[in-house]
Amino acid sequence: MPNIQVLDQVTIDKIAAGEVIERPASIVKELVENAIDAKATAITVEIKDGGISLIRIADNGCGIPKEEVPLAFLRHSTSKIRSVEDLTGIASLGFRGEALSSIAAIAQVELRTKVKEADAGIQYRIEGGSEKSLEEIGMPDGTTFFVRQIFFNTPARRKFLKTPMTEASHVSELITRLALSHPEISFQFLTNGQPKLHTSGNGRLKDVIYHIYGRDITGNLLEINAKANGVAIRGYIGKPLISRGNRNYENYYINGRYVKSSIIAKAIEDAYKGFTMQHKYPFTVLHFTIDGTDLDVNVHPTKMEVRFSKQQEVYNFIYNTLKDALSEKELIPRVELSV
Ligand code: ADP
Ligand code: MG
Repeated sequence: MPNIQVLDQVTIDKIAAGEVIERPASIVKELVENAIDAKATAITVEIKDGGISLIRIADNGCGIPKEEVPLAFLRHSTSKIRSVEDLTGIASLGFRGEALSSIAAIAQVELRTKVKEADAGIQYRIEGGSEKSLEEIGMPDGTTFFVRQIFFNTPARRKFLKTPMTEASHVSELITRLALSHPEISFQFLTNGQPKLHTSGNGRLKDVIYHIYGRDITGNLLEINAKANGVAIRGYIGKPLISRGNRNYENYYINGRYVKSSIIAKAIEDAYKGFTMQHKYPFTVLHFTIDGTDLDVNVHPTKMEVRFSKQQEVYNFIYNTLKDALSEKELIPRVELSV
């Protein structure tokens, strides 16, 4: 057997990238979450060839100061936490400091960024983990990332990418979820130069739902607004008649983060039992606000999985709230009385 050696940084980052970056949509997710954390009010996402040849993400957020630009691309570098204690009650979407180093390890990245206080912006290039250039440029406040040729240096992974059309549909689905998660941010999405989505950012969730799903769905929603024991639920659920043949329309967010939770999914589906036929799944867009101390988001590198400390309480509250809303009499078609 060969002797034991510690891997070099580029190899470490390439391996780690495998956990976070699976396809163009993973890059879009990480970069849009960074834009949200940077308090952007407008975010533009443009992709070419499903994001395989180009992903451009522009935001009007706080920007990165010049001296911190190269730091941001180091593994485990973050401005969002300082110690493990900060993980409890985490308010930002990111905190692991892995995204930029992972993306830079497997693609050609160009960053343009400017903070309000600076006169000029910075253009920084990094490819396959090695720095190419850092120069001053004129630009408005905010940050733009260009990510080109993903997996150019890991051909084995590039082979696993699907067709540009399939990759584009993954990105599109993700943008939909992100737009629904932050109605107060204006999202613009373009693929191959064609505009696909543009939300206003006026803060009204129902307007975003209308924009994405249209009139038939928006006309058949029940509003949810309830709060108990440190958990709040706000949003909309579909009347049983607009239930679907798959789970793609079960949207829910915890503290602004799109997540998957078997507890939440079960509570939602159980509440609909008796209202919908078997193998039909509800339409929901629900925002949960849960006290960070009752929540663990650090379960997996993609941060998609969460754990609750009070599982049963969370289940009961969701189940009861939705069941009550569905049981309200308005669901029974009203007979118009004419005199
Ligand atoms: P994390 O989001 O977990 O902190 P990332 O690797 O995604 O780690 O980003 C590293 C750091 O770069 C962030 O903590 C943040 O300070 C900075 N950053 C990244 N993207 C942006 C952006 N769009 N606007 C402002 N700062 C950003
Ligand atoms: Mg991040």
